[in-house]
Amino acid sequence: MLDLKAFEKQVIPVMYDKADTADLKEIIRRQKKKLGEKLVLLAHHYQKDDIVEWADEVGDSLELAKKISKYKQAETIIFCGVHFMAETADMLAGKTQKVLLPDMSAGCSMADMASVAQLQVAWKKLEALFDGTTLPVTYINSTAEVKAFVGKHGGVTVTSGNAKEVVSWAFTKKRRILFLPDQHLGRNTAYLLGIPLKQMAMWHPATKDLSYEENLQDIRVILWEGFCSVHQQFTPLQVERMRKLFPDIKVIVHPECRRDVVDLADDFGSTAKLIKLAYKAKSGERLAIGTDNNLVERLQKEMAKKEVFIHFLNPMACACLTMNRIDLAHLAWILDELVAGRVQNQITVLDETTKWAKLTLDKMLELTK
Ligand code: SF4
Repeated sequence: MLDLKAFEKQVIPVMYDKADTADLKEIIRRQKKKLGEKLVLLAHHYQKDDIVEWADEVGDSLELAKKISKYKQAETIIFCGVHFMAETADMLAGKTQKVLLPDMSAGCSMADMASVAQLQVAWKKLEALFDGTTLPVTYINSTAEVKAFVGKHGGVTVTSGNAKEVVSWAFTKKRRILFLPDQHLGRNTAYLLGIPLKQMAMWHPATKDLSYEENLQDIRVILWEGFCSVHQQFTPLQVERMRKLFPDIKVIVHPECRRDVVDLADDFGSTAKLIKLAYKAKSGERLAIGTDNNLVERLQKEMAKKEVFIHFLNPMACACLTMNRIDLAHLAWILDELVAGRVQNQITVLDETTKWAKLTLDKMLELTK
């Protein structure tokens, strides 16, 4: 869960906010060099270009989770992403490694849509209705506490890059799954596995009730009513408009998009898959991509060299506000502090939480080797 107290306390010195880009970059370059192999800087694909530029590794949630074990020599991991990613890194990192998040206000609105208290209420009701036949499956975009709850109940963590494999495994364990917090990834994955929409119910955490279409006992998937504020912005109308403008365009979207958008798209997949599809495009091809703005902008620039034309599926879409909170000022500040021997913004997951949450992460990694 986002540490609001730490956020309130954290105001970086004004000199960093006022510094110009060249000075901030010089600080980052100098301090990174001083720290050498003691530091590893990981950045999510949705980070801005001027952050990605400094990263030792760039990836989506699954790729970065897998890469942590590669950097055993690093004493500190600076995670340029959002809070739940830094928590995951802390749980997968070695005991003595520290994970730092440059700005503590970089949370994820989707992860915050499912708290442990809400999950306990939902679980009690679902267990009463379905009598032990449900397995909890949590998207990696969830708090460590939610993952720990899922681990205690035999469940697993999933990312958009391995959802099909992991959810298939979950169905070998129990007749139904509770998928949280992203209803869209849950629905799109289950649909891909052949489960009809009428066998999917929705758990509403605000009203604490379950809605479904037909027979309660036929339900195979209980979706949590959560969503990504970035990916839920894409609509079927945007797909239709793109096709009208460019009849030969290929539309590719992230599975956090609504079912009707995924249905109209030519292909869909994790961030890593969308990047692969863009790189596979041939000269003269045109793609409309439904995902985060920073990534699409980067692909636009990179693919222009190959004369592949990349469009935002929704040119008016808002970027992920919290991802963008990681900026040069915060990165320069945290590095200056680290070199001065002051560890700022360390993300530490409690041992008891890690013990259970890690079970779900280890299971996921084992299933997607
Ligand atoms: S893009 Fe969506 S899921 Fe990713 S951090 Fe932003 S709000 Fe969360």
